[in-house]
Amino acid sequence: MTGHYLEIAYLIAVVLFMMGLKKLGHPQTARTGNMQAGIGMGIAIIATLLLYKNSDGAGIGNYAWIAGGILIGCIVGWFAAKKVAMTAMPQMVSLFNGMGGACSAFIGLVEFGPAMSGSLLPYATVLSCLVVGTLTFSGSMIAFAKLNGNLNKDIRLPFYNILNTLIMITLAGLTVCLLLHNIEDARMWIYILFGLSLVYGILFVIPIGGADMPVVISLLNSLSGIAAALAGFIYGNNVMIIGGILVGASGTILTIAMCEGMNRPLTNVIFGAFGAGGGDGGGAAGTDGATKIVRETNASDAAVMMNYSQSVVMVPGYGLAVAQAQHIMAEFQHMLEANGVDVKYAIHPVAGRMPGHMNVLLAEANVEYDKLVEMDDINPKFPTTDVVLIVGANDVVNPAANTDPDSPIYGMPILEVEQAAKIIIVKRSMSAGYAGIDNELFFHEKTSMLFGDAKKVITDLVSELKNM
Ligand code: NDP
Repeated sequence: MTGHYLEIAYLIAVVLFMMGLKKLGHPQTARTGNMQAGIGMGIAIIATLLLYKNSDGAGIGNYAWIAGGILIGCIVGWFAAKKVAMTAMPQMVSLFNGMGGACSAFIGLVEFGPAMSGSLLPYATVLSCLVVGTLTFSGSMIAFAKLNGNLNKDIRLPFYNILNTLIMITLAGLTVCLLLHNIEDARMWIYILFGLSLVYGILFVIPIGGADMPVVISLLNSLSGIAAALAGFIYGNNVMIIGGILVGASGTILTIAMCEGMNRPLTNVIFGAFGAGGGDGGGAAGTDGATKIVRETNASDAAVMMNYSQSVVMVPGYGLAVAQAQHIMAEFQHMLEANGVDVKYAIHPVAGRMPGHMNVLLAEANVEYDKLVEMDDINPKFPTTDVVLIVGANDVVNPAANTDPDSPIYGMPILEVEQAAKIIIVKRSMSAGYAGIDNELFFHEKTSMLFGDAKKVITDLVSELKNM
């Protein structure tokens, strides 16, 4: 009977997961969605602890160990989530993906038993769970190190594509061999499989360039879900299976959407490895030898220009998050609106360092959702825009994506800001963005550079408006 109650609890949990996931699709409902999915997970954990019985009728047991694990996990998770800076969110997502992968890897290691040889399906599930979980773990740790600035270079070993493909084939071959043959010392081979998967995860992520990191993060996210679903199959646990599939499927959809956002096929991201990546300031803009003129402006002139415009489009980027200037930017927006200016925000799908980074940042500053306009909708509006104010964005407005077939970002959709009448760019220097490539927009005849930290500059703009 308890089995029925357990399945009912799982059903409620799964419904909450799905409702939560649906609500995560919009900033207005995302907070509630997150809460609902969390409650679903809580129900699934408590129900498993209290109601689960194995085929011999024994319950979970080991409660002290489990309680210890939950306590440590809750304390670490709580403090990490409370303390994490907005700019460090992508690293945190990567770390969580990695932890999910590590759990599945451990499940694969622990649940393997020599008796498994011969029973094809359970054995295949354990091996796949081990391989996918392990490479998700090591790949996510490298992604974490890259996004956290601990690993500033994209390391490309000689013939890295061939090497990676060979390791992938070896992994698949070894898994099939273990499945099909009753190998005597299988435990040793399991550890070799584990080690090889660790190496593959590392080698898979280290060459990938900065501009492709969002796609990799979402790919690893979907792999962590697939690994969790495989772990669910090992235990015949429906809530793990469905939860894992939801993460795997939504991660895959996001990966495809990100690839479309950058106009690059997934294979190109995985095997192409473009962009220097690894942080701002990777190179100076406009270094091709020709003399180029940089037009500089100041807060007073910029404030006057925007105040007497009819329409202003603000383009937020990673620098806005670094400077934590979202609140003052929202204040500036409201002041312009109070003076009759139509203000919108242009949101590029990969602006910042994680999917939805700008939406989250601006939502934190209570910017009205209808002010945020996606790239495809705002691009046709630039020709009728008076002023574009770019704050800490660089790669996502780089015209080389449209004009320079030799540029590594050629073909990536960008915000076509140069169509507007005037452009003001707020950043601290002339240095390049995350992809490490030059940006001709800084030298465009319509462009004025407003140098400085975004928070300081926008605070100055607000003061100027107040003094008008
Ligand atoms: P970029 O990284 O291209 O540019 C950010 C700019 O902000 C820099 O050029 C920097 O210039 C400026 N900046 C940094 N700090 C400050 C500050 N305190 N005040 C003012 N300006 C500052 O950002 P974008 O948002 O335009 O593009 C995102 C890039 O990151 C893309 O290449 C994308 O592919 C990649 N990426 C995106 C992820 C995602 O999921 N969205 C994940 C990982 C990478 P300066 O130093 O001169 O101030």
